[in-house]
Amino acid sequence: MKQHYDIVIMGAGMVGASLAAALLQHAKSLNLSIALIEPNPLHVQAEPDSYQPSFDGRVTALAYGSAQIFQQLQLWDKLREQVQAIEHIHVSDRGHFGAARLHAEQEKVPALGYVVENKWLGQVLNQHLQEHANADLLDFYSPATVTEALRVDGKMQLQLETQQQPLILSTDLLVMADGGRSSLRDKMGISYTEEIYQQQALVCNVGIDRPHNNIAYERFTDTGPMALLPLLKQNKQHRCGLVWTVPEQQADDLLAMTERQFCTALQQRFGFRAGRFNHVGERFCYPLKLQRAQEQVRAGVAILGNAAHTLHPIAGQGFNLALRGVAALAEHLLAAARNGQSLGDYEVLYQYQQSRLADQRATINFSDKSMRLFAINNPLLALGRDAGLQLLDICPAAKTLFSRSAMGLASPMADLH
Ligand SMILES: Cc1cc2nc3c(=O)[nH]c(=O)nc-3n(C[C@H](O)[C@H](O)[C@H](O)COP(=O)(O)OP(=O)(O)OC[C@H]3O[C@@H](n4cnc5c(N)ncnc54)[C@H](O)[C@@H]3O)c2cc1C
Repeated sequence: MKQHYDIVIMGAGMVGASLAAALLQHAKSLNLSIALIEPNPLHVQAEPDSYQPSFDGRVTALAYGSAQIFQQLQLWDKLREQVQAIEHIHVSDRGHFGAARLHAEQEKVPALGYVVENKWLGQVLNQHLQEHANADLLDFYSPATVTEALRVDGKMQLQLETQQQPLILSTDLLVMADGGRSSLRDKMGISYTEEIYQQQALVCNVGIDRPHNNIAYERFTDTGPMALLPLLKQNKQHRCGLVWTVPEQQADDLLAMTERQFCTALQQRFGFRAGRFNHVGERFCYPLKLQRAQEQVRAGVAILGNAAHTLHPIAGQGFNLALRGVAALAEHLLAAARNGQSLGDYEVLYQYQQSRLADQRATINFSDKSMRLFAINNPLLALGRDAGLQLLDICPAAKTLFSRSAMGLASPMADLH
């Protein structure tokens, strides 16, 4: 293992692993040295083809634009083996007349997005990284944690805790992709704003008694929004991924319910539009907040993914936004490497950050504002938002604008070739 790297990526979650994959394509030709540091052991199933979709674990709605990014990373052919296409999106307001429907065919795309189980995404990414580690293009420190990062003589000096002895590494660029509870961010004095929604996202996979017909539902209710995402069948059972936003005090009650009680409660809340709920996988709860780091770049440091911005999950935009950031950072870093610039150069990182501001602002505002707008029970506002949904439904230009934004196509696509 080396003592100095061009890039050290801290965190091999969905975001850190995707950035490594984006850079690794050109690591050999540009002679880039890359290290990835992760506290959890890397899980690569011995036989990736033995993967079975399950009733447990989280799922992610990948926007159509994210699929295109994975295509550029040469990962889409493998990923698509286990994804469910979303061909229609149905947005509605429970107890009100407003509803809007988006269709892939009308938008002239094969799918508006794809639903992937996080376990499968992790497995495909890890397998890919492992192959590059075996080819000596990537050094993997795992289990290992970055505990300190200091700027010394124009480089970042990192302290690592490992199972054996502490290590010291240096790097031109430290990419912090260590998630929303980044402790290093605090140590480095990078402040952030936080808004707590006083709500929990209850997440599980549910069985239904009929095919989902590739429809994703987004339903706003007076206690919080719900999303039902189409999943691949398992053992002939039709399945969907559920994200149900509930006030904090209700979350424990829903977790404690029997399967039957839960299906009944869900049916009452969601209605029968998708069929009858007849099975529930393991249930998880996540506290909801909007968090934004006040700085996303410094000389020698870039902050990505949840460490930079954690969004309300209901609009399914957190990872999609982060992946567009991954692609943009990789594009800027690869260009800098081709020009012989240091990858930690502040100007390079500043240009990257500037290129992301508009998309970040629009996506964060959209998910935060729609969440708050639909949480309001005021009848006049309800009338206004229902009229808005109806208008969206009948106005093709507005629909295309909305669809392109939901598909992650509203901002220019990074070029990683
Ligand atoms: C219920 C729910 C549903 C969601 N659904 C969607 C969706 O449908 N579509 C969508 O786009 N987004 C969705 N999201 C958002 C998405 O899950 C996040 O954007 C994504 O997980 C962020 O990944 P990350 O890699 O930044 O962070 P994480 O997944 O938190 O990964 C951080 C990694 O850093 C490692 N780490 C931590 N500390 C250190 C350290 N000191 N040194 C080294 N490594 C460290 C951790 O072990 C971890 O592996 C959802 C989120 C939730 C909660």
